[in-house]
Amino acid sequence: WKRLTQGLARTSSSMGGAITSLFTKRKLDATTLEDLEDILIQADLGVPAATRITEAVAKGRYDKEIPPDDVKRVLAAEVERSLAPVAHPLSIDRGRKPFVLLMVGVNGAGKTTTIGKLAAKFRAQKLSVTMAAGDTFRAAAIEQLKVWGERTGSTVISREQGADAAGLAFDALTQARRDGTDVLLVDTAGRLQNKAGLMSELEKIVRVMKKVDDTAPHAVLLVLDATVGQNALSQVELFQKAAGVTGIVMTKLDGTARGGILVALAERFGLPVHFIGVGEGVDDLEPFAARDFARAIAG
Ligand code: GDP
Repeated sequence: WKRLTQGLARTSSSMGGAITSLFTKRKLDATTLEDLEDILIQADLGVPAATRITEAVAKGRYDKEIPPDDVKRVLAAEVERSLAPVAHPLSIDRGRKPFVLLMVGVNGAGKTTTIGKLAAKFRAQKLSVTMAAGDTFRAAAIEQLKVWGERTGSTVISREQGADAAGLAFDALTQARRDGTDVLLVDTAGRLQNKAGLMSELEKIVRVMKKVDDTAPHAVLLVLDATVGQNALSQVELFQKAAGVTGIVMTKLDGTARGGILVALAERFGLPVHFIGVGEGVDDLEPFAARDFARAIAG
């Protein structure tokens, strides 16, 4: 809880602070409601949610003075209501050896880091982990994954920079299967500059893995950087088409005052949200819980 509130401090202090100054010794009227709606839109909750929450706050309180904490309570309750349906723990089918997680998302979103953090969680559950360094475009990504492999005691399968990512995924799955590994985490490149190339590469990775195990991948996790704000919405559409996203990990919530983006995403797509990233450290990946998150951002 402490890590969560600290991680979400920017969003909560910006939104909570603005609400406090807006409603301190002021009546709830058309002007304050409009300002409240603006605060919520600033936090990236999206217009539909901002409007709905503003209406919920106004209900029965019009023309009355209302303590800021009451506004925050209504806000937290409404945010929780939007998020509860999408808060799903990531479940690993232990019968699959390996359970294959394909990690997708644009460059810099936090895929490689999230793979390291996830590997640490799986290792803590005594599961064996293999990582496939499928971001073959960047030498740094391959190196970074090797470091995470060492830190977490995971096997890393890599090839030289520029190698075919689908071929690597095929080999990694073949080896992980032969070894009876519990979890295979497949990193991918996320070059948005070339959307057609990105899509066909992801499709190829999926197609090739199915030759080894026709049920793979068992989860396709889209890693989204919270600091990109509303752009996250178009990234979901893109990766849905390219790889069939099964769940979301939202990173860098510690680096933005716009943590409300999860509400906009939940209302638009309804995709499961498994984890949130609140820092660069290995422990800075929190299972997503609607109530805790709502309370933490409402301030
Ligand atoms: P990739 O290109 O998608 O693999 O992204 P990386 O995993 O290389 O991450 C890009 C940068 O974001 C790195 O500097 C990470 O340390 C940083 N990063 C990843 N997740 C988080 C997070 O939750 N919070 C913060 N503050 N930084 C993060």
